[in-house]
Amino acid sequence: MIGAGIVALATAWLLQCRGHRVRLIAPDADGPDLQECRSGSAAALGVLMAQVFRRSRGRAWRLRQTSLSLWTQWCQELNGRGCPVPFQAGLLLVPRDEGEAERLRLLLMERQALGLPLSWWEPSRLQELGLGDNGRRTGGLHSAEDGQLNPLVAMDAFRRDGLRRGLELFSDRVVELERRPAGWRVHGHSAAQAMETEWVVVAAGLASEGLLAPLGHQRPLQPVLGQCLELAVTPPARWPCPVVWQGLNLVPQPSGKLWLGATLEPGDLADPGLLEPMRQLADEALGGGLREAVVIRRWQGLRARPIGRPAPLLEQLEPGLLLLCGHHRNGVLLAPASAQWAVDQIEGSLTCR
Ligand SMILES: Cc1cc2nc3c(=O)[nH]c(=O)nc-3n(C[C@H](O)[C@H](O)[C@H](O)COP(=O)(O)OP(=O)(O)OC[C@H]3O[C@@H](n4cnc5c(N)ncnc54)[C@H](O)[C@@H]3O)c2cc1C
Repeated sequence: MIGAGIVALATAWLLQCRGHRVRLIAPDADGPDLQECRSGSAAALGVLMAQVFRRSRGRAWRLRQTSLSLWTQWCQELNGRGCPVPFQAGLLLVPRDEGEAERLRLLLMERQALGLPLSWWEPSRLQELGLGDNGRRTGGLHSAEDGQLNPLVAMDAFRRDGLRRGLELFSDRVVELERRPAGWRVHGHSAAQAMETEWVVVAAGLASEGLLAPLGHQRPLQPVLGQCLELAVTPPARWPCPVVWQGLNLVPQPSGKLWLGATLEPGDLADPGLLEPMRQLADEALGGGLREAVVIRRWQGLRARPIGRPAPLLEQLEPGLLLLCGHHRNGVLLAPASAQWAVDQIEGSLTCR
């Protein structure tokens, strides 16, 4: 496994649960680097938006539904193994105007017809929760099974449970993949000896492109930077789940703090000038409830967006070489379905022999 983001760790964990031996190599194999610019997974807010997704068919919809259902099962399993991953159930989409409210009401009817637990929260309920602004708003769409989890906690749980199951971690940066008659040789930057393996799973985020190009696989990826804020809010937010307002996520934390994010900035340079408008937008969502809030932390991370191909890239590029990357905005949500896909490829090829 190359990479130690949520996609690599989820895949490594699932492979181990199925009895496979896994070696994972990445510079941050022992834990994420929480420097100012983080990997996508270490920066993510962990919002899982599956059932309120705008389409209800096709690959993206299927991946989202599979993932949400796997996250529910996996959280229970990890909790049972002493590696809890708290899941904050529910997601509330607050429309900015009547036009958007109308679109969300149509979505509600469509999803209810599929038997999904979506409902409309009236303006009075939003006001009770501190979300309305004197009844002008239209209410909002609530999805009971979508939700949020802390990606750092989830990655730590996969790693800890994985280590107990025999996961082998190597802190190194892969510099080359070499074809061998019976598999692959993985060259690390500092390892004296290269690793021999039958299967390689490349889940190295933006670095995947550079590892694959010398093998003749062109998979261009564009970095898209995201910035987030953590605020101390007094009194703490009263609403029971993350709120989405004009594309902005407001994620209440158990500590009473509030996460806000994330910007979408093509490239890898953060524009600090985008933070204040983001905060103002959140303040608007709360009818002025954030004016006194204090910024405790800010951070940023990079997403990998595929150029010319739909996200995510889940591909068997040649025998024994899998690619799991380019998840762009939904890698936390889609990690379980990506892992499941990889395990199916590996086990499918074993049964064909
Ligand atoms: C600010 C922000 C907020 C987000 N919020 C959400 C959200 O709410 N919900 C959601 O679903 N998604 C969210 N995302 C998107 C999500 O974070 C990504 O889609 C996801 O993290 C991608 O995971 P990954 O494992 O593919 O890549 P990454 O997390 O980028 O991990 C790449 C890994 O590869 C390793 N690596 C790099 N180079 C090499 C090398 N040469 N050799 C070995 N290893 C290497 C890195 O060290 C790292 O471990 C957000 C992203 C950002 C930036």
